[in-house]
Amino acid sequence: MEPISPLEQALHAARALVLADLVAGRVAEADVVSLVEDSVTQRRWWVEQWPEGARYVAGLVAQDVQDALLERYGRWPLCPVCGAGEPHALDVEPELGPDPHWVCSEAGVKVAAVGSLGEAIGGPASS
Ligand SMILES: [Zn+2]
Repeated sequence: MEPISPLEQALHAARALVLADLVAGRVAEADVVSLVEDSVTQRRWWVEQWPEGARYVAGLVAQDVQDALLERYGRWPLCPVCGAGEPHALDVEPELGPDPHWVCSEAGVKVAAVGSLGEAIGGPASS
């Protein structure tokens, strides 16, 4: 067996984090999972051109899936922080950087790390 390259590790991690958030939001249906696979495939090409971008892949895959869901299903993930007003989606920050988080741009708060959305929207409480 060949060792798994850091690039593949980053792609695997990105896939796992975004899938965890989809599961938390109960939208991890088969066709949605395929959106994640599509994004990972495209980002594999991207990160092969620019290996230094490996740390940014999780945030980029999250944004790709968010964009794809917006076209097909609507806003995702919905903000769990703001109780009143128009429902709105969270944004990924930084758009291109390591350690991506979901943030509510209306309230100006970090809601959760990408991959930890379940803790913010009523999943098992974290200590
Ligand atoms: Zn909000």
